[in-house]
Amino acid sequence: MTLQVRQALTAATAQLGERVDAEVLLLHVLGKPRSWLFSHAGDVLDSDVKLAFDNLVERRSRGEPVAYLTGVCGFWSLLLEVTPATLIPRPETELLVELALARLPCDAACGVVDLGTGSGAIALAIASERPQAQVIAIDASAGALAVADGNARKNGIGNVSFRCGDWLSPLGDERVELIVSNPPYIESDDPHLGRGDLRFEPSTALVSGRDGLDDIRQIIDDARRHLQPPGWLLFEHGWQQGEAVRALLQNAGYAEVFTAQDLERRDRVSGGRWPAGCMRPGDPR
Ligand code: GLN
Repeated sequence: MTLQVRQALTAATAQLGERVDAEVLLLHVLGKPRSWLFSHAGDVLDSDVKLAFDNLVERRSRGEPVAYLTGVCGFWSLLLEVTPATLIPRPETELLVELALARLPCDAACGVVDLGTGSGAIALAIASERPQAQVIAIDASAGALAVADGNARKNGIGNVSFRCGDWLSPLGDERVELIVSNPPYIESDDPHLGRGDLRFEPSTALVSGRDGLDDIRQIIDDARRHLQPPGWLLFEHGWQQGEAVRALLQNAGYAEVFTAQDLERRDRVSGGRWPAGCMRPGDPR
């Protein structure tokens, strides 16, 4: 039986409840841009294309994220490879990039660290906008770093280096002007972990202890030993964690502590500057 593109899309949309997912998956199998659909809706699908498309639609209907099925995701101005070793970059994380760029010189060298880089999204977006910055992208997962390294090559970005290790430990005694991170921040018993894309993403990139703040606490503490004074620490967090993370930053001695809201007007990124005006005895240098 022959099947036209439009018929295949109608059937897949009925199965998935989402036309855009059906289109993205079919175009991925065909290797065509979206504009192709306008003039080819009556084309007959080859049987091997139909088979591959059916397979992806079936996997999507069982919940696998579209980005893992196609292996790519757009972030900032970049097209990134993503695999189940990496979190899928979220649009709201672009806020973190904007806030970082606002604090970096346009035409001078500076050092930046991205902690838990995953696919490299944040590090590569910053590096692409600030060619004179040297960006160090750190992740505890060698699998994620391989993906991030490949993304740097594919996007022709040469000012990012990659290091494997736990948070700031690969830095030794180096200091930089800016540390950014989208760390795990979901509470370990959050019911959302059993729904949607989160079920398929690496839990090490999502979950951080009972209150979701274990990794943020560590980053706030340790960043003080790696910021070139007065350097900025900026990180993403959950929309109900703004007040708690501002208190953590203030208690750790950061100045200019703030929270910024995403497009849905939810607390999403907080940060502060180290050190505050005067150093106190016992503060790490
Ligand atoms: N923003 C993601 C979500 O809740 C979580 C990402 C993270 O833990 N860093 O879907």
